[in-house]
Amino acid sequence: MDAFSYITIILLSILIVFTFVIQPIRIVRDLINHFYRDTLNRHLIFYRLKPRYKKILGTYSIYYRKLTPKNKRVFERRLAKFLAMKEFIPRGGLEKITDEMKVLIGSKAIQITFGHPSVYFEHFWRILVYQDSYYSQISRQYHKGEVNAGGFIILSWKSFIEGMADHDSGINLGLHELAHALHIENAITNNEYNFLNEKKLSAFHEMAYAEMERIKKGDGVFFRDYAATNIHEFFAVMVENFFERPSEFKSYNPALYALSTHLLQQDPLLPDPIGQYFR
Ligand SMILES: [Zn+2]
Repeated sequence: MDAFSYITIILLSILIVFTFVIQPIRIVRDLINHFYRDTLNRHLIFYRLKPRYKKILGTYSIYYRKLTPKNKRVFERRLAKFLAMKEFIPRGGLEKITDEMKVLIGSKAIQITFGHPSVYFEHFWRILVYQDSYYSQISRQYHKGEVNAGGFIILSWKSFIEGMADHDSGINLGLHELAHALHIENAITNNEYNFLNEKKLSAFHEMAYAEMERIKKGDGVFFRDYAATNIHEFFAVMVENFFERPSEFKSYNPALYALSTHLLQQDPLLPDPIGQYFR
């Protein structure tokens, strides 16, 4: 056989392997992913959280510590997957991203989405961490955190830690910024599009505007004034209070609290926050 025949045979073999082996595998994989996405994400057999990360999680995450052993395992695997997906970048004098930064920021992301097992903030794959407040060239102000449509979540580590330390104040930078990311993610057309129940979300918005009006008139007694800035800020402040002051939130406005449990698919007041939805 001459060189030309060899090349033809090799090219034909590649074509046959691609058409009859690789393509069918891809189709089967996509079909499994399409129909069993939730099941796959719930079991997460390929993800294991490093023991040193688990130690940090157990030490600092009150939410994780309260979970049942089964939910703890789900939380760990979901966190491992989240960390594998995201790029953490130190900024503004911060020398490096520590294990604590990764685990604690990731733990807030999993906490917020614990009732939505398929949601991993797909659009937001870069997390910038500053040592302290940073100067934004766009707003020409100092910020403690922000989320931008370009796919960045930006946090001041100092403010993040302050929010975690004071865990029942209803002010938590990590929860606040990740709530913004969640609200935006829901509206972006990608694999994670529209996961928040549409009817519940519009009912929530209606009640939120009523609360915002109350705040503007000076009659707001539960949510801080900043929540009245716009609907996005209200949603973020709601999430902070939902996790940090759930009993007070529920007594203040039971209907709004109930809608929030449906949106986030969990209830922090229950011993198993996602139990009623998944079993
Ligand atoms: Zn905000």
